[in-house]
Formats: sequence, structure tokens, C-alpha cells
Amino acid sequence: MKVKPFKNESINDFSNKSNIEKQKKALQEVRNMLGKNYDLHIGGKQNQTEKKFNSYNPSDKDEVLATFSKGTVDLVNLAVETAYDKFQEWQYVTAEKRAKILFKAAAIARKRRFEINAWMILEAGKNYTEADADTAEAIDFLEFYGREILRYSSKQPITPVKGEKNELVYIPLGVGVVIPPWNFPFAILVGMTSAAIVSGNTVVLKPSSETPMMGYLFYEIMKQAGLPDGVLNFLPGSGAEVGDNLVAHPKVRFIAFTGSMEVGIHLNELAAKVQPGQIWLKRVVCEMGGKDSIIVDKETNIDEAVNGVVASAFGYQGQKCSACSRAIVDASVYDKFVEKLKTAVDQIQIGPAEENYRMGPVVSAGAERSILSYMEVGKTEGRLLNGGMKAEGSGYYIKPTVFVDVSPTARISQEEIFGPVLAVIKSSNYEESLKIANNTKYGLTGAVYTRNRKKIERAKKELLIGNLYFNRKCTGALVGGHPFGGFNMSGTDSKAGGRDYLLLFLQAKLVSEKVK
Ligand code: NAD
Repeated sequence: MKVKPFKNESINDFSNKSNIEKQKKALQEVRNMLGKNYDLHIGGKQNQTEKKFNSYNPSDKDEVLATFSKGTVDLVNLAVETAYDKFQEWQYVTAEKRAKILFKAAAIARKRRFEINAWMILEAGKNYTEADADTAEAIDFLEFYGREILRYSSKQPITPVKGEKNELVYIPLGVGVVIPPWNFPFAILVGMTSAAIVSGNTVVLKPSSETPMMGYLFYEIMKQAGLPDGVLNFLPGSGAEVGDNLVAHPKVRFIAFTGSMEVGIHLNELAAKVQPGQIWLKRVVCEMGGKDSIIVDKETNIDEAVNGVVASAFGYQGQKCSACSRAIVDASVYDKFVEKLKTAVDQIQIGPAEENYRMGPVVSAGAERSILSYMEVGKTEGRLLNGGMKAEGSGYYIKPTVFVDVSPTARISQEEIFGPVLAVIKSSNYEESLKIANNTKYGLTGAVYTRNRKKIERAKKELLIGNLYFNRKCTGALVGGHPFGGFNMSGTDSKAGGRDYLLLFLQAKLVSEKVK
């Protein structure tokens, strides 16, 4: 099967009026569809349950967008058994056929792009560009993993042995459980699920309860693309009930999780326990939180550094695992940096995602509570430069907040806040900056602003983070170009969007035949 080389999907430019109009029109169309009920989908059949939960608009917190049936323990069992039965066929479907379904799904997502964005703007509170970049990344994952399975299913290099015909083939694992977060509600969900499916596995998908609609849209797109019933099963529900029972099920072979460190550790422990009847050790792909730093060296352009820090700290309200939550600034440029930072942050406007404000709401009441309580901690650990409180409006709006003069060991320097809160730390020299950047239990992303080549080379060696950038922001990883995943408590370094990723959903089998 011949395919064109992979290329990243371009992001729509919303300084262009016609794109704004297209997005507004799609928002209006989606608004006409609000308030419907959505079922669970197992083996292509719709299931309703008595208990329901709502998806809300964080920009206008009492607005219900959709209502979903809530999965039960019985349905967990049915979904896993269905996926297990379907695996007996799906594993033998050729890689070409599986890849074609992903390419078709990418084409459908391209056509429905503004509609997908619109749901995300309403459900996750992303502005137009953030939502569009998320949808573009999802399309990239479909295109990239489609190509990757063709590579893994082709002839693999192996050392010849005289008198034998040997081959190494990659085969799928079995039933996978996919548990994504809400913050890249389409891209990460699509990435983990499509990688598992294109590798020949069957999946039970439990979307985040904050963004179930994004999971439903993907289910619908895969069905439209011709995915046979039972390969993807859609099972929203509570993390503790549906999530835990899925992970513990003896017929589940692997778990693909992205979310917080606390839940990741819990699921890793749960998956490690061998259940009665289970005949394998479960594989866990577990991507977790971050406490990401940008080092601002004295040998740099301060304006560029300020721009990079602001974009990384406050893009999507700081709710990215890759968000900069610590700026480590050299003492000799510290005052200048802080002054420019204050001006830049003061300019950020906050309002409803639907109206495309630069900053929208945080995702939920729980997120708002937790971020506000960290702000109170921050007030005892540093000097408040900007924000530090809620912003006006009927959604979960929080002002972009900066604390300066924060100690590298303070709580707000160490714990993931996952909101628009930045700690600025003064460092006496470059050596100390590197040490501070490495002083957390996480190791996800980071950036260094410096013009000095020697310092760049030193950081390349010494910084223990999965995605390290120089002279640019530390968010915005691109599929193919920036394989993504972190070290230590940031996860298992799965490198989503990279050439090693599908291996996590495959196992290698060696076949050796004696020849005369
Ligand atoms: P979360 O851990 O609260 O939830 C993640 C998923 O796990 C959701 O689907 C949730 O319903 C489910 N879940 C929650 N409790 C569960 C339980 N007891 N059993 C089974 N499933 C359960 O995380 P979140 O708030 O959705 O996402 C934010 C977190 O994700 C942040 O920590 C962020 O850094 C991290 N994240 C990491 C990456 C990465 O690539 N490393 C990417 C995005 C987000």
C-alpha cells in the first residue's frame, strides 16, 4: 500500500475573518444540538442506564451540553467480554485494512473540523486556536499511526542464520482499556485509542467525565470510517467504578492511561495485581503530570523569553501537562524580566471560550477550587505579581497569576497546580538554574532561553526531561517532529507521536523454519 509521507495538519489562522465566521457558524449549529441524551456503545449496540451524568459548559457553568448514561460494573464485564470476542477476528485483519480505517477517519475529522472544535470550545473551554490545534493533532495521530503500522507490518531486519528461514513479526496484545484526560480531550483520546486499534487490539474507551462528548464524536467518526462493531466500545462512567473495574478485569491485556500522577500510580498498582484466571502481566502505558520549567539565562533576549513563558504558562489557562509553571531566571536579568512579565500578563483578557478570549475558564468547579487554594498557598510562599483571584463571569474564570521570589522547594514550585499559576524563581547562575530545573519528581517538558552554545550543550546533557526545547515555548509538541512523553513521575515516556509508540501496543514474535 502506497501512502504519501506524513505531514502535519496545518492550524487554521483565526486572524482571518472567514475562519472566525466558519467557527461561529459551527458553534451555532452545535448549539442547536445541545441537551440530547447519549448512550453507551458496546459491540455496536446502544445501552442506556438509569444513572446519568451531564456534560457542562465551563464558560457558563450551569449550562448542560449533553447527558450521558453512566457505565455500571455489569456493563464493564459486557464491554470487556465483547472486546475479547471481537479480538479473535480483528487481530487477523490486515494492517492495510486497519490503516485505511484510520486514514478515512482522518478525512472525516478534517471535514468535521469546525464542528469538533465547536464541541471542544463549549465542553473544555478552549479558545478557537487551542481547539483547532487539538483537532489537528488528533488528525495527525490518525495519519501518523496509520503509516506506522504499515512500517511495523513490513519485513523486519533480522540477522540471517544459515539453514533457516527466520522472520520477526509484530502481533497485537488483546483487549486494551483507554483512559484519557480532559485537557486534550480529542487529541490524546484519539491518539491512544487509534494506536491501540490500528495495532490490531480491541478497546474499551472510558472518556473523561468532564469531556465525554469528545469521546462520543470519535466513536461516531470511527463507525463512519467503517470500523467493525465491537473493536471500539464506548463506556463513559465514574473513574472509581468503571475505570477501576476495567483496569482490574482479568481479560484486559493492557491499559493506556494519561492523567494525573495520583490516578496513574493507583492504576499502575491495580493493574499489577494478577487476578484469578488472568494469564499475563498487564502492560501499562501511563503518562502523568508535570512541573515544567523555563530557564531564562542572562545571555538572552528578554522579550522573547517573556513571550515564551507567558504562552507556555497561560495557554489554555495553564491546563497543559507541558505548561510552564516555573520560570527560573538569572539574578542579573531578574528585575527586568519580572517587570516585562507583569506588563505582558496584565494584558491577557479573560472571557467565554465561545467568544474566543485569549484565556477562557478552567474546566470545572473542582479545578477552580484546587487552583484557588494553591493561590492561597502561593500568597504565603512568594510575592503576588499578577492575579491571585477569581475573575468575573458566570464560568470558572481565574485571573492569570504570577508569584515572584518563590523558593525552589516551595509547594507551588513542587506540586502540579494545573491552572494559570506561575512561580518565578531567582537563580544566582546557570549552574544553579539547571539544578533547580531538575529538583522535582516530574520530568516532562522544559525550555531554556540562551544564546550561548556551550550552555545549550550542557542543558542537553544535564536536564532530565522528556521534551526539552531551546529558545521557544515548552508547549505545542507536534506529532512526528516532537514525540511526547516524560521521565520519572511524569510517566513511562511513551513518546506519543513517535516511531516507538506502536511498540507499546504490540508484541514481537520470532518464527524460525529449518530449510534444506
Ligand atoms: P485525572 O487523573 O483526574 O483523570 C484522568 C482519567 O482517569 C479520566 O478519564 C478520569 O475519569 C480517570 N480516572 C480518575 N480516577 C480514576 C480511578 N480511580 N480509576 C480509573 N480511572 C480514573 O486527570 P485529568 O484531570 O483528567 O487530567 C489532568 C492531568 O493529566 C494532569 O496531571 C496532567 O499533567 C496530566 N496529563 C498528562 C499528559 C502527558 O502526556 N504526560 C497529557 C495530558 C494530561
